Amino acid sequence: MHRREWLKQAALGASATGAWATSPSFLPAIQNKKLPPLKITNVKTILTAPAGIRLVVVKVETNEPGLYGLGCATFTQRARVVETAIERYLKPFVLGKDPLRIEDLWQSNFVSSYWRNGPVLGNAISGIDMALWDIVGKRAHMPVYQLLGGKCRDAVDTYRHASGRNFKEVEDRVRQFMAEGYRHVRAQVAIPGLATYGAAGGKGDNKVPGNRRPLLWEPKPYVRTVPKLFEHLRKQLGDDVELLHDVHERVPPILAIQLAKDLEPYKLFFLEDPFSPEDIGYFKHLRRQTSTPIAMGELFNNPNEWLPLVADRLIDFIRIHMSQIGGLTMARKTAALCEFFGVRTAWHGPGDVSPVGHAANVHLGLATTNFGVQEARKFTDAEQEVFPGCPELKNGYYYANDKPGFGIDVDEKKAKKFPIQDDPPFDLRWGNYRRRDGSIVKP
Ligand SMILES: [Mg+2]
Repeated sequence: MHRREWLKQAALGASATGAWATSPSFLPAIQNKKLPPLKITNVKTILTAPAGIRLVVVKVETNEPGLYGLGCATFTQRARVVETAIERYLKPFVLGKDPLRIEDLWQSNFVSSYWRNGPVLGNAISGIDMALWDIVGKRAHMPVYQLLGGKCRDAVDTYRHASGRNFKEVEDRVRQFMAEGYRHVRAQVAIPGLATYGAAGGKGDNKVPGNRRPLLWEPKPYVRTVPKLFEHLRKQLGDDVELLHDVHERVPPILAIQLAKDLEPYKLFFLEDPFSPEDIGYFKHLRRQTSTPIAMGELFNNPNEWLPLVADRLIDFIRIHMSQIGGLTMARKTAALCEFFGVRTAWHGPGDVSPVGHAANVHLGLATTNFGVQEARKFTDAEQEVFPGCPELKNGYYYANDKPGFGIDVDEKKAKKFPIQDDPPFDLRWGNYRRRDGSIVKP
């Protein structure tokens, strides 16, 4: 039965006529009628890689015909483990429950494993949580941002990634983004001979005995080069463009502090992940020495990690991965917390957030007064085919499409055309960056 017909019969009984059900007054007329209870009838875990990146998307189905929600549970390095956590553990736990009790389902999913607060289980909870918000939006015939308090901006300002083998290449790439309308650009440059995060061109060598193809990384040449890159970019591009940079935690904490100080004259929009999550005790030392704005958080798992940094005003941007920390429920609470401490949002948004996760980021960004910036990507044709309704990028802004829920769908048949790769099971560069002496580098 068509969903519209089902709603009509459920809300009004058999006396309603077909003609009435198709009239424009149909929706307002059922607004005050009591709809029948909803139940979760199925949970599907969809693994797909339309852009070559392993995505994990959750589809929660209900007893209302055609009413389902989508969420992002992507943990690209451990996709099969998240799939198991959903299929074997959370799916049987949530079947038959009311999908509109989002908070209660979040809390009960969270403690259902007794041990909690980690990735994998966090991704599984996130995927289901976002799908529930999508369901409530669709049932209310409203975009999710409306349920979060409504738009406080028309679109979400974004940044893109510029990288190159040398300063000139990076500069040219930044210029391209500026010409496309972007106001914020992250800049990374290759360090010759080293496997540099975020920049192609330096692959490192293969000479560490006893290791199979390690990727070579040394922090000193990197921290010497990056301030020179930004000196170059400011000279060539002026002060108007907002420039960002990601350290990706790869340097000893004291070198990260030196780097943040050395970058101060170039007025970055933010410096990202100067320390690993294990070194967050260094933030208070960093803060005392430099006013370079700091973004942190894509590797955080739970509020105990970011709460002290926010409450002590030690960071300027929170960058948690919504598909990991507990979905929209946890992200919206975090955004509200940050508002009172002057911390802005910059949700994690590279290729290992699915288009569904990006849509959720955009909806929250539209309704968050302390929104800062959104990491963005241009979705490939294959991604747009698999996920009709991807947020649109125009003039450097992400726009939501204003359809109910997150406004994004998944074509399950097309998703199957892009199976995830299991051999190797993840990008083996992770866990394989090493110093010249063979010791491991984070991350
Ligand atoms: Mg990052």
